[in-house]
Amino acid sequence: MIRVRFAPSPTGALHLGGARTALFNWLYARSQGGQFLLRIEDTDQTRSTNAAVNAIFSGMKWLGLDWDEGPDAEGTHGPYYQTKRLELYKKYVQQLVDEGKAYYCICSSEDLAKMRSDAAKKKLPPKYNNTCRKLSPEEAKKNKDAVVRFKLPEGVKAIVRDVLRGNVEFEADLLDDFVIQKSDGFPTYNFACVVDDYLMEISHVIRGDDHLSNTPRQILLYQAFGWKIPKFAHIPMILGEDGSRLSKRHGATSVIEYEKKGYLPEAMFNYLARLGWGYKDQELFSRDELVKKFTIKGVSKNPAKFDVDKLNWLNGQYIRKALPERIIDLCQPLLQDAYGDHDFDHLSKVIRLFIDRLVIIPDIVALSKYFFTDDYDIDQTAVEKHLKTEIAPKILSELKRRLEKVEPFTKENIEPVFKALASELGLKLGQIIHPCRVALTGTAASPPMYDVVEVLGKEKVLKRLAA
Ligand code: GLU
Repeated sequence: MIRVRFAPSPTGALHLGGARTALFNWLYARSQGGQFLLRIEDTDQTRSTNAAVNAIFSGMKWLGLDWDEGPDAEGTHGPYYQTKRLELYKKYVQQLVDEGKAYYCICSSEDLAKMRSDAAKKKLPPKYNNTCRKLSPEEAKKNKDAVVRFKLPEGVKAIVRDVLRGNVEFEADLLDDFVIQKSDGFPTYNFACVVDDYLMEISHVIRGDDHLSNTPRQILLYQAFGWKIPKFAHIPMILGEDGSRLSKRHGATSVIEYEKKGYLPEAMFNYLARLGWGYKDQELFSRDELVKKFTIKGVSKNPAKFDVDKLNWLNGQYIRKALPERIIDLCQPLLQDAYGDHDFDHLSKVIRLFIDRLVIIPDIVALSKYFFTDDYDIDQTAVEKHLKTEIAPKILSELKRRLEKVEPFTKENIEPVFKALASELGLKLGQIIHPCRVALTGTAASPPMYDVVEVLGKEKVLKRLAA
């Protein structure tokens, strides 16, 4: 059975990198008929917060990443929070101590600092010098600051077999007797992670390659316990457009910021899936299609670049695919905020006109401004080109005179007015529409003219044509 997990440390927002790790795990589980677990790695008590746990839940919920095992929807603490499992880790630490594979260490921080500086003087890597290997556990336990260290076996080879990268070899010489239990009795990340991945029967560990250097230590722990080692896939980082690691400097980095900015979750889902994974040169994938096509082998070995233009393009595509009613519901409160109360029916008509032009939902506010206020922006270049012509005043006043008589004021009745005027003046239809568009909207680009005229309504149309 394929069992994978997302194991975030709740120390801040759910970042794009974390969300993508969650997504790849989720996709892998769903594509293999396996299970996806969520485990909250909250043993760093100074940095873990409830707010961050909630941010993880809401980010995953927004993206539709449901888990088969993990905290329940209310976030009730359960066996999937590491702080609820401390007794378990202690038991396994004790097992290694009893088997002589781990030992208590009472070296003070001054002792450790001296070891580091001595090593630096000799140009050696900063390693623990194994002083406390000789210490008896009874003696060590008297010291309340004692930590527990893993006893590095002789002649270890530090090789990680990675599904994506093949065998990755580390300098075994860089490893030392690393700490597995801190003085406060809490396990270190490497230890808790291994115990949990084992107990939770994780078959594949798919995580960011910033963890690759931890993996040799984790493998040593599996070997010490005689446990089966899961398969590892370390996925490459996400970089900003300038090639440095994605950070605040590059703009929004948390998933929820994108929700707030007006992106659709299915666009983000599709975008994150394509960030370091691909299938031919296809860009648009439905959820089901991703589940069918996702493979770990399809993940790139090279870092992925975050490209906001591509995300925007995808978002526009998904806005077009969505049910118009949904887009209307998302846009409507923004319009009310910007332009006050308006009849829902009118708002819906306006929004429908712009669905084809939205990149993100809040674009609706600026795009539709001329429907709600007379104080809209005027594109001077368009005015020069289409209104300051010899014929424009005549066109506009004729249009005004004729539209005045149109009743009911619908596009079916409006269209013939334009067509008749064009043929009477011996002009092309465009020559009528362009000046009208600039006069009514202040821009040279708007939704189809007859729709705009109808939705603006007779009163505004006549007023603007006269002006
Ligand atoms: N808690 C670790 C993190 O958030 C998880 C690493 C792992 O997946 O093993 O980076």
